Amino acid sequence: MNLSELTTLRVGGPADELLEPASADDLVAVAREVWASGDDWIAIGGGSNVVISDDGVPGTVIRIVTRGIEKLAAREGVTLRVQAGEPWDDLVAYTVGRGLAGLEALSGIPGSTGAAPIQNIGAYGQELSSVLDSIEFLDYLSGDLVQLSSAELGLGYRRSVLKGGRPGIVVAVTLRLSENPGALSDPIQYPQLAAALGAQVGDRLPVAEVREAVLALRSTKGMILDPTDPDSVSAGSFFTNPIVSDGFARSLPADVPRWTVAPDDAPAVITPLEAYSPAHLGSPLRAESRGVKLSAAWLIERAGVTRGFRLPGSNAAISSKHSLAIVNTGGATALQIAELARYVQTRVLAAYGVVLQPEPVLVGVHL
Ligand SMILES: Cc1cc2nc3c(=O)[nH]c(=O)nc-3n(C[C@H](O)[C@H](O)[C@H](O)COP(=O)(O)OP(=O)(O)OC[C@H]3O[C@@H](n4cnc5c(N)ncnc54)[C@H](O)[C@@H]3O)c2cc1C
Repeated sequence: MNLSELTTLRVGGPADELLEPASADDLVAVAREVWASGDDWIAIGGGSNVVISDDGVPGTVIRIVTRGIEKLAAREGVTLRVQAGEPWDDLVAYTVGRGLAGLEALSGIPGSTGAAPIQNIGAYGQELSSVLDSIEFLDYLSGDLVQLSSAELGLGYRRSVLKGGRPGIVVAVTLRLSENPGALSDPIQYPQLAAALGAQVGDRLPVAEVREAVLALRSTKGMILDPTDPDSVSAGSFFTNPIVSDGFARSLPADVPRWTVAPDDAPAVITPLEAYSPAHLGSPLRAESRGVKLSAAWLIERAGVTRGFRLPGSNAAISSKHSLAIVNTGGATALQIAELARYVQTRVLAAYGVVLQPEPVLVGVHL
């Protein structure tokens, strides 16, 4: 089977072996067996944040499909233990249906619950990190099933120690959600969402209303998996919003939109200007300096890459609804996706000196 059938971008060649353990116990046993064999392996959930090479992957693909939501005893609020293969949006619908607050703005994100901590999924001002208690993690290095607290995961903007390279498998996720008499949401953080709800930033509205508004907004951007929408054949946003140093941000034209970010999201993008400055050498992240977040979509559009753009002869295109998404218009290869991504990177680098970083995990694909 080609892995393109298991990814939302519909690219990816064959795997030597595909395993789908049916229970959490099986998942642990199967993973340990594969690891003991010394073969190459990768984990995959909903395939919505990966770009897999046209050559496929050598070794075994462990597809995580274990489902289940369990309510744990808690002193306050509601604590849920969720199996890694539970589809994320089914979980959100479950919590919203019970009037629980904490996940409503994360409605409509594709993929599995076990993958949610990998890049600390976020949207419309909410992030997984605000409700994540811990994960059950099968550690590749020790083979042990361990509990890792949210604090141990180093969660930040689209990052975690897991995305950063700690190998293993998320088997289950524990979340702490809140309850209130009016089933009201967390305070709305995002101006566009507030406007869609006829509310102000900081307001709290019924979680069900917030979910509906988020789903409607996402659908206008092709950011919901919808078989009738060709713009949803993507891996979501292809680039993260760059976080650059305060000093570099000052060198940008005044009209470039920017936001100061929390200290834990220190500059993660090395701009060419900084890479070659003597002050920078030997201190790759400059964690002490303030981070400034830029809008990747704005940079892409202003660098002259328009929605719907495609390279001659290619079946990969910029979404016609959202300049951050690269879509497979039908029969695109991973190579074509990568060529378009490189083109976008080059245009933005030439115009603004910023190297956009891919958000999806690249498997055998290089930018
Ligand atoms: C239309 C669309 C909209 C999107 N919108 C958003 C958004 O608003 N915000 C956002 O943050 N993301 C968004 N995404 C990206 C994606 O949905 C999320 O990152 C999601 O969490 C990926 O889940 P998955 O199960 O599909 O992961 P996969 O794509 O299957 O895997 C992604 C990575 O996680 C690893 N992985 C998966 N499951 C496990 C596990 N159980 N244990 C260990 N490693 C694992 C894989 O090896 C891979 O490295 C969007 C994607 C699409 C297609």
